[in-house]
Amino acid sequence: MRDTKVALKVCNEYDGDMIAGKLKEGFDLLGGLSNYIKPGHTVLIKPDLYNCSEPNQAKTTNPNVVSALAELVYKIGATCIIADSPKGDFKQSNLDNAYVKTQMLQVSNNGHAMLNINDDIAIATNPNGEHCRNVYVIDAVNDADVIINVGKFRCDKNLGLIGCSQNIFGLIPGKFKELIKSRCHTLKSYYNYIHDIYEVFEDKIVLNILDGIVASEVNNDPRILNTILIGENPYAVDSVALKVINQNPQDSLLLNESVRRGKFSFDLELVGDNIEPLICSDFHYTSFGENVKSASMRKFRQEYNSYQKRPVIPSNLCKGCKICIANCPMKAISMQSGQFGEYAKVDYDRCITCLKCVDNCPYKVIKTKTPIKYRPIDRMIKKSLRERKD
Ligand code: SF4
Ligand code: SF4
Repeated sequence: MRDTKVALKVCNEYDGDMIAGKLKEGFDLLGGLSNYIKPGHTVLIKPDLYNCSEPNQAKTTNPNVVSALAELVYKIGATCIIADSPKGDFKQSNLDNAYVKTQMLQVSNNGHAMLNINDDIAIATNPNGEHCRNVYVIDAVNDADVIINVGKFRCDKNLGLIGCSQNIFGLIPGKFKELIKSRCHTLKSYYNYIHDIYEVFEDKIVLNILDGIVASEVNNDPRILNTILIGENPYAVDSVALKVINQNPQDSLLLNESVRRGKFSFDLELVGDNIEPLICSDFHYTSFGENVKSASMRKFRQEYNSYQKRPVIPSNLCKGCKICIANCPMKAISMQSGQFGEYAKVDYDRCITCLKCVDNCPYKVIKTKTPIKYRPIDRMIKKSLRERKD
């Protein structure tokens, strides 16, 4: 488990020099930036470029935070690359657009960081993954010696605090994110995908920084919090972030899962400035908290259901042997009566597309149907596999 010590610094404006000073003070509280970065390292800075939003919307990592960090890293003698996979397909033209809108282009013009222009996709493996063992990631991570994860303090109506731990999801290229979400039957399984991805990069992610100088509430309103958080452990950083908005971290499903998986402990050490004056008791977080109620989970499912590749059982071909029912881990198949007698029917609200039913049907009558929205993802997977073979 990464150290759960978190440094808190009060910072009340997006002034480059002020941010650089606060970051340096925060790093020093953790032993100094040179503890994590060595001369000659290639450092991937992973900001949150959500939806390619402009900085004044407070939904993306502020360019001045990234710029100040890049300068500190540069002074150590390391090379910085800014990389993320924001909105749309993961391709050069979309990345260019994101860099302009989020003002990362200006950060790179300052001369201390380059922008990632590599739109290749790679496969990373987590042998201990609970939900995924092979995961598609942006290839730029393979060129990096270390990653500094620079999240934005923002809240999503379905996913809760995005912060640092969910910012890691941006290492998944473009529409592969939708593919993963489509496979998540519950918010708990989504959070465990996040953990599976984190475990792939756990050794490389040496620092997590949360830009909470101005945060974004669940209703998209910017909210001044004057907070910068820094730590080795993304879950520890997010735990302190929840305290800043007067939420109990122990209610967080994501954090409880990280405890279960041995990645975090609520017993953390907070150093730096005093948290008490920063606590914002009327911050609009989520309407449901992270202890998701079925209504919001249904919404989450509906949003991504349209990407899901599904098993389809034709009622006229099914022999009613029930072997698929015995093999379905989600108990998503039940018998129904139809004009051709009893047949098996899939409940798509429960199905996680493991396709065990397809493999186990002795009569090979279960087909898979690819919804239109999934087809570009399917093409991307096939293309990237072809390219790897070549
Ligand atoms: S793909 Fe088949 S076996 Fe897997 S969850 Fe769905 S219905 Fe069940
Ligand atoms: S295993 Fe095949 S034949 Fe048997 S009930 Fe399921 S779909 Fe029908």
